[in-house]
Amino acid sequence: MNDTMSAAYLPGDSTVEMRTVPMPTPGHGEVLLRVKASTICGSDIRCIYHEHLGKGPEGYQGVIAGHEPCGQIVSTGPGCRRFKEGDRVIVYHISGCGVCNDCRRGYMISCSSEQYRRAYGWQRDGGMADYMLAEEKDLVALPDELSYSDGAQVACGFGTVYEGLEKIGIDGNHAVLITGLGPVGLATAALSRKLGAHKIIGIDVIPERLKIARDFGLCDEVLASGPDNVAEVKSLTGGSGVERAVDCSANNLARATAVRATRKWGRIVFIGEGGSVELNPSPDMIHDQKTVYGSWVTSIWLMEELVERLVRWNLHPADIITHRFPLRLASEAYALMASGKCGKVAVCADEELV
Ligand SMILES: [Zn+2]
Ligand SMILES: [Zn+2]
Repeated sequence: MNDTMSAAYLPGDSTVEMRTVPMPTPGHGEVLLRVKASTICGSDIRCIYHEHLGKGPEGYQGVIAGHEPCGQIVSTGPGCRRFKEGDRVIVYHISGCGVCNDCRRGYMISCSSEQYRRAYGWQRDGGMADYMLAEEKDLVALPDELSYSDGAQVACGFGTVYEGLEKIGIDGNHAVLITGLGPVGLATAALSRKLGAHKIIGIDVIPERLKIARDFGLCDEVLASGPDNVAEVKSLTGGSGVERAVDCSANNLARATAVRATRKWGRIVFIGEGGSVELNPSPDMIHDQKTVYGSWVTSIWLMEELVERLVRWNLHPADIITHRFPLRLASEAYALMASGKCGKVAVCADEELV
């Protein structure tokens, strides 16, 4: 194996810096992965690519970028207990202390240890490289039926959506409204369909996204974002509104639309990060007996459950990838993702690049 590898860094000025760095060696309880697919997340763009916005768990520490990696183990450090060379694995994207209450629930995203909570691609080296180190405890086995590009999206996008949908519950009685049709919104549509939703309505401002949602058969109806959206959604649902709504936009007006276009006793979940929202609690929520949930990422055990469901449903997250780039063209990949004129964007290697 080589002594060095290529890796992508995000200086925070809407560029990508490629560097040649030493090949890492796995320490105790760690594995070295050949990165096969590494997808770009909206939060990479929002908090790191344009500017280093985040603090605490969203603070980028100048490490190798990429928190949605999937790959194959090429070597293991001492003390590994389950995974071995050749195994195909997904990386849960935050490495936690393992012993706080949140970690014990499987929600390392919320790990309360300032010293040991480190997200891949934020505070420890991530997947935008030829190889990466991961802790064995952060790995989820990738079934043979799923590709590495499928797996890369389980880590953050599809996992985050699955968690939110589990909280509000989706079944065949439900019309579902999705505000924001970026990759997370598209994942919401794909999973809602498999969970049995009878009608899926999507709203976005970007025409390319509306087209992808319609062309891929993910949404039954798509609406351009506008002041009449609540009335439009009601007219598509017999005048009453949807039973379930998922905000993936983080846009103030779209969030209000999600709440107001939901019928009495309905449930809404906010997944999109950042921004604000203005609501009138009495008419918008209280008098109509509505519940609004917040949902942040997922647990590693729910990720394992999702992987099993994806195989059962024959659902391939890679289907929403519209563009693939080799690592050396990572700057083009980030620029495209930042434009929003795409579905999911992936940096791939080997068989995933075909
Ligand atoms: Zn992400
Ligand atoms: Zn912890």
